[in-house]
Amino acid sequence: MARNPRYDLLFEPVKIGPVTARNRFYAVPHAAGMTNSMPQMRAAFRATKAEGGWGVVCSGYVSIDPGSDDTPLPYATLWDDDDVRSHALMTEAVHRHGALAGIELWHGGGSVMNRLTRTAPISPSGTGWMATHVGFMGNQRPRVMEAQDIRALLAAQAAAARRARQAGFDIVYVYAGMGYLPYEFLLPEWNARTDAYGGSLANRARIVRELLEVTHEAVGGRCAVALRVSLEELRARPSASAASEAHELVALLADLPDLWDVKLDSSPTDCPPSRFAAEGSHEGVIDFVKRLTSRPVVGVGRFTSPDTMVGQIRRGVLDLIGAARPSIADPFLPSKIDQGREQDIRECIGCNICISSWHDSVPVRCTQNPTIGEEWRRGWHPERIAPAAGSASILVVGAGPAGLECALSLGRRGYEVTVAEAAEDLGGRLRFETRLPGLAAWGRVLDWRRGQLARLGNVAIYRGNRLSADDILGLGNTHVVVATGARWAKLLWSPLEVAAGSLAGPGVLTPDDIAAGTRPQDPVVVYDFDNYIMGGALAEHLARGGHSVRYVTPAGHASAWTIMSNEQPQVHRALAAAHVAVHTLTRVTGFEAGVVTLASQFTDALSRHECGSLVIVGARFADDALHAALTARPAELADAGIRSVARIGDALAPGAVVHAVYSGHRYARELDADPAGLTARRDAPLARSA
Ligand code: ADP
Ligand code: SF4
Repeated sequence: MARNPRYDLLFEPVKIGPVTARNRFYAVPHAAGMTNSMPQMRAAFRATKAEGGWGVVCSGYVSIDPGSDDTPLPYATLWDDDDVRSHALMTEAVHRHGALAGIELWHGGGSVMNRLTRTAPISPSGTGWMATHVGFMGNQRPRVMEAQDIRALLAAQAAAARRARQAGFDIVYVYAGMGYLPYEFLLPEWNARTDAYGGSLANRARIVRELLEVTHEAVGGRCAVALRVSLEELRARPSASAASEAHELVALLADLPDLWDVKLDSSPTDCPPSRFAAEGSHEGVIDFVKRLTSRPVVGVGRFTSPDTMVGQIRRGVLDLIGAARPSIADPFLPSKIDQGREQDIRECIGCNICISSWHDSVPVRCTQNPTIGEEWRRGWHPERIAPAAGSASILVVGAGPAGLECALSLGRRGYEVTVAEAAEDLGGRLRFETRLPGLAAWGRVLDWRRGQLARLGNVAIYRGNRLSADDILGLGNTHVVVATGARWAKLLWSPLEVAAGSLAGPGVLTPDDIAAGTRPQDPVVVYDFDNYIMGGALAEHLARGGHSVRYVTPAGHASAWTIMSNEQPQVHRALAAAHVAVHTLTRVTGFEAGVVTLASQFTDALSRHECGSLVIVGARFADDALHAALTARPAELADAGIRSVARIGDALAPGAVVHAVYSGHRYARELDADPAGLTARRDAPLARSA
């Protein structure tokens, strides 16, 4: 198919200092959990984006000095010549596909704890990051930088820039964002210096200017020098000479960088979940930058619509369409637009499971794209899959995320696939979950798969078909895949931190009951020890539906795990806005005669509250009765010609949607595969030269 001429603008080359990007698609620096200890995985992951048409593909954050050590979070290093070879694997792979390679050189300053190197961290005035969540706390505070530390910082940046050039990078960054060292100089909260690096904005920006200068000098005109800067706080600050300090800063440095890469200041605002922010949410902060520089400007905003991208360029907001998440969810997004296949774009749903992988210090995972991070390790390509090893018919029971992904991938391999779904609509758990506040965009998981499946002639889908073991034996497929999902349980939570002891009675409900249409009685108590999105979102949903709602959790925060996906601060705001009373560090110990008993987690102090319905959002168990019924009848399976019965998704092990999609995809990849090839390859750091 031909490209829609409306999108030609997106495919214009853009000159960035001494180099030229082939188009306006720019995969910005983002952490992907692949450090120098996984150089092959990292190279293949980024090469796949280059193959998918991105004009520029950047690294994640790369430490310039052992004094900037983010352990246990997965950062890369460029500390010596051995590190150069590790990064060169990526630049070579990216160049093979015609893209430019960028590297985000990084010093964490007062935001890192240097747990590995055990060097005292540095910051402009000894201020550290005062995290409120234990996952990000540390006990080490930085020391105040002296003049020699500033000289050492500039020298480290210059040395790293030279190594970056040697490694083959085309764009080398100065990174003044997100609480890291150069950013710390920009803000008075971090910077109380009385020397030439503190005070006026011109003084506070001096370090950024000098970092840009030494980087230019180090790369000797062979690489472009980019400035990545967070502008949210500065834009909120008045300036005597400009509309805000952000304006003043951009005007001060105007054409010194070859490229402005502009972003917001904290992970939850810079990379907000779709629950709380729409596509293009940065615009109100960064919209002025282009007016103050002649250099190209790149920014992000979870852009997946080519019309929005064109709009950003035509309206003079951006020159290059930056993407982290959309390039993870679909590394082939640019190619698809180029080929007039916009409807094939696997759009990011904004769930931020990718971010959670970074917080978990593991290679990136994605709800929409199960192949991400597996390019080298398992040889998975997002657009290609091995043809079927032989002819076989496969029955997939259940059309939730696992069943749909499995059916699609099997269909693409060329198998004859039948999908049976008990409900009238496809989607499994997402049929209900996408109706919860802010979760509509998660429907893209279904939309994309439904759209792709509709093009396959070899996949038949039957709705309103609840299959029994007898039905399945009668159908006689070669393989049966059980994707029947999971059920929420009416279990309570024990101080041993396991689900234990159950509650019964008409007023005791689970999310499955609400999904099935049960109307809870007021006042409602939502008791959440699942800690992911369901508890918080359901409490908000019920409150917005007119119920009086109390939210109770033994954890320290509402939807505690969602700190990992950048959602948690906003969950609390949303609950407050919906007038939900929140009890943290509290467990439910009883519910009878319209009264719920709560116990303080640490003191066991009791309180009693009127309660019409108690909705328990806790343990989930696989709905595997069908699988058990089938596998209990091996002789009949053999007679029916059924060679295997497998479980996938929540029916195997209840998890988030990302787990279900991955499980369904993996089954499809591995069916009939050579068992020798099923073990994931293990990456390792390159051998050191001495
Ligand atoms: P997952 O997240 O693993 O995909 P879901 O719970 O989202 O799991 O989806 C499971 C789907 O399986 C639901 O749509 C449910 O209606 C369907 N299902 C459950 N049991 C049967 C059955 N016996 N026959 C057909 N469909 C079933
Ligand atoms: Fe988007 Fe979610 Fe994938 Fe991240 S994990 S890229 S937010 S779909």
